[in-house]
Amino acid sequence: MAIQRTLSIIKPDATERNLTGSINARFEQAGLRIIAQKRLHLTRAQAEKFYEVHKDKAFYDSLCEYMSSGPVVAQVLCGEDAVAQNRKIMGATNPANAEIGTIRRDFGQSIEHNAVHGSDSPENAQIEISFFFSQLEIVE
Ligand code: ADP
Ligand code: MG
Repeated sequence: MAIQRTLSIIKPDATERNLTGSINARFEQAGLRIIAQKRLHLTRAQAEKFYEVHKDKAFYDSLCEYMSSGPVVAQVLCGEDAVAQNRKIMGATNPANAEIGTIRRDFGQSIEHNAVHGSDSPENAQIEISFFFSQLEIVE
């Protein structure tokens, strides 16, 4: 498997509970490297743009409101098979269905307030990484 990059976001429910370090430790323990990271507060318009693929879903409005409700930490993770590896560490979308030991199972509060975002394909990872970061901000 190749070395990949993926976009991760520590969501407002997790930053609010001061879980940034605990979540980052999960990535590092699994062998992923944080090669870019910044804390920011998305505007509603930025959240809408980021989640545009979900614009026809019933949860879109609520999701965009939530993602712009407080600080997030956006990060680029790098490592072997990073996209799938990060999805595995995160666990299923609904924390109630996520495997024991995953971030969402251990830290998620609900299907919406599920602590982290992770890209779902290498193609989307590229698009999502450039949404948040310039080349200058990513340091391997
Ligand atoms: P994932 O984040 O696991 O890739 P999706 O891309 O399907 O999941 O959804 C994006 C985000 O929208 C989820 O992480 C979650 O915060 C929220 N979400 C997904 N499904 C629901 C739902 N049925 N109700 C409320 N929020 C949801
Ligand atoms: Mg998704």
